[in-house]
Amino acid sequence: DVQLSNRVNSIKPSPTLAVTNRAAELRAAGQNIIGLGAGEPDFDTPDHIKQAAIDALNSGFTKYTAVDGTPALKKAIIAKFENENGLKYEANQILVSCGGKQSFFNLSLALLNAGDEVIIPAPYWVSYPDMVKVADGVPVILTTTQEQRFKITPAQLEEAITDKTRLVVLNSPSNPTGVAYTEEELKALGEVLKRYPNVLIATDDMYEHIRFTGKPFCNIVNACPELYERTIVLNGVSKAYSMTGWRIGYAAGPAKLIGAMKKIQSQSTSNPTSISQVAAQAALEGSQECVEEMVKAFKERHDYVVSALNAIEGVECIEADGTFYAFPSFQKVIDSRPEFEDDIAFAEFLLIEAGVALVPGSAFGAPGNLRLSFATSLDTLKDAIGRISTALAK
Ligand code: PLP
Repeated sequence: DVQLSNRVNSIKPSPTLAVTNRAAELRAAGQNIIGLGAGEPDFDTPDHIKQAAIDALNSGFTKYTAVDGTPALKKAIIAKFENENGLKYEANQILVSCGGKQSFFNLSLALLNAGDEVIIPAPYWVSYPDMVKVADGVPVILTTTQEQRFKITPAQLEEAITDKTRLVVLNSPSNPTGVAYTEEELKALGEVLKRYPNVLIATDDMYEHIRFTGKPFCNIVNACPELYERTIVLNGVSKAYSMTGWRIGYAAGPAKLIGAMKKIQSQSTSNPTSISQVAAQAALEGSQECVEEMVKAFKERHDYVVSALNAIEGVECIEADGTFYAFPSFQKVIDSRPEFEDDIAFAEFLLIEAGVALVPGSAFGAPGNLRLSFATSLDTLKDAIGRISTALAK
């Protein structure tokens, strides 16, 4: 029997991928399952982006690149930050990685020593706590309620900060809630963070472009420019350009930290895929119309899903500010029926009885809710929600 490391024994496989796999298994066994678990847009990668990769491939751009990304892609990222976010970075402040996931992984390994604490508001993206644990850090989870729109308060943040706090993670708009912090809310959190100069901040802006509010995007550095020196901005092309399989994410921040993250990456994956980097450059530099079209579809589906879910007795779903997720509470339904022990049992019921796969909220640190991804057609969503209400009415 192979003895595994304490490190790997301390983490679990990604629960969102597990739901997708389970749905695929049932489908393979002949069942009609609608999968609403996936964390990726249903659209194809836009043609001009694919073409750039095809051209790169045909021109022989198939070798190692610089570990931290090609100069051309880094230039496109620097221009993106300047034009879209009003943030200025030099080339040594940018690291391109194999997806946003590797960016956060690099950050954890470059920053944390054993026992260092990382403040993570729940509901959180499933991977943050486990990536912190891999780096021997300690996730400190802040719980929020639906009434506070799943956002932490300045008082909550202040209370959680200790001598061991190294990092605070913000993700807005959020996976899984779809909720975004306003500029005022970020300013108030920033006031707290200003008092703790040893604490770094990671803002995960992966869903920056998928927003419904019409207001300009704002992250913690925009709200609080004084925090620039100790904030690391995480972003990527996966969600905005429907490029999840291409594996390109990027990070921007203090040169010393970015350099350390690059060193970690140089001893793990080296550069991200050469042709994916060319595609990512085309995504950032090309027309943004494709993003607008996707967002329009997501907004229409969002409006349908939220109202249809709220029409089911016992279900409460707040309106999101962006992303392609709804995060309804089924707590009242779960409480009203003894056969549902918790959200995990309830998700299993929906899978078997309704043939609909949703991710239990406990995977995101928020039991009682379920994450529904509306990155699928309106017709499929109507079918899925119809099945859920029929199963519950039985
Ligand atoms: N950050 C958030 C909040 C996410 O939801 C995801 C993907 O699910 C990522 C980062 C990572 O994206 P990727 O590694 O696919 O680029």
